[in-house]
Order: sequence, then structure tokens, then C-alpha cells
Amino acid sequence: MKIQVKKLNALKKYTGGFEFEYEPPADLCLVPLCGFEGSVRVTGNYEIYDDDSVGIDYTVKYRIKGQCSYCLNEAFKDIEQSFEVLFVPEDDADNYSYDGVTIDLTTAVNDAILFSQPNLILCRDDCAGIDVNNKIKEE
Ligand SMILES: [Zn+2]
Repeated sequence: MKIQVKKLNALKKYTGGFEFEYEPPADLCLVPLCGFEGSVRVTGNYEIYDDDSVGIDYTVKYRIKGQCSYCLNEAFKDIEQSFEVLFVPEDDADNYSYDGVTIDLTTAVNDAILFSQPNLILCRDDCAGIDVNNKIKEE
């Protein structure tokens, strides 16, 4: 997931779009009993400014699949969230940095996947969990 800033600058393509399919590392999924299903779709736009900083807005879209956090039935959740970041040519505590030539989006995309993740997934919105009372009645 790279943006060739120097090359785009030379071509005077100061703004544009991008699209990547990304296979996330499995340990990036922090939802208990779940994992990523398929790849993460990353789409976005960049704008290169006069001082070589680059504004990037991007959207990550992916599916988490596994077991419902309440009742352990099969469950999945589609997630889509947008972020806006700035890449700067020097180290800067507030922004992502790059070498002035090429931006590698991997860290920013991994961060977006972490920030957009739910704490748990449910098989349905009103899942009440394993119903202990019902179980007792059945017996
Ligand atoms: Zn459930």
C-alpha cells in the first residue's frame, strides 16, 4: 500500500485516489473468538501540499467473523470507517511521517483497523446471551 509522492509530484498529480486490497495480520483482530474474513478493502484520496506534507482520507472496510460474544453462536460484523491523517516529511509526534519519497500506508491502515474494531460482536442486536432460565424450564 504505497503512494509514490515524489513521482506524483513530478507528474503534477497533486491529488488523486487509491484503492488497495490488504491481507491483515491475524493478530490484529482483538475481538474474542473472532478473526478477519477475507481481506480489508482500503479506498481513499490523497492531496500533496506545497510543504510536501500529504493529507490522506481513507476508508477501511472488512468483516469480522466468529462466535457471538454473548451466546457463542456464529456471528459476523461488517465494519466500515473513515479516517483523515496527515503524513509529514519530518518526524512529528502528531502525524505520521514518511521519507519525502514514498508513503507506506500499512501502519495507518493497521491503526484504522484497530480503532474501528468493536469490543464484541453479537449474532443479532438483541441477543440476550445463553438463556439460563429457559434451559432450566426445558429440563
Ligand atoms: Zn448471540
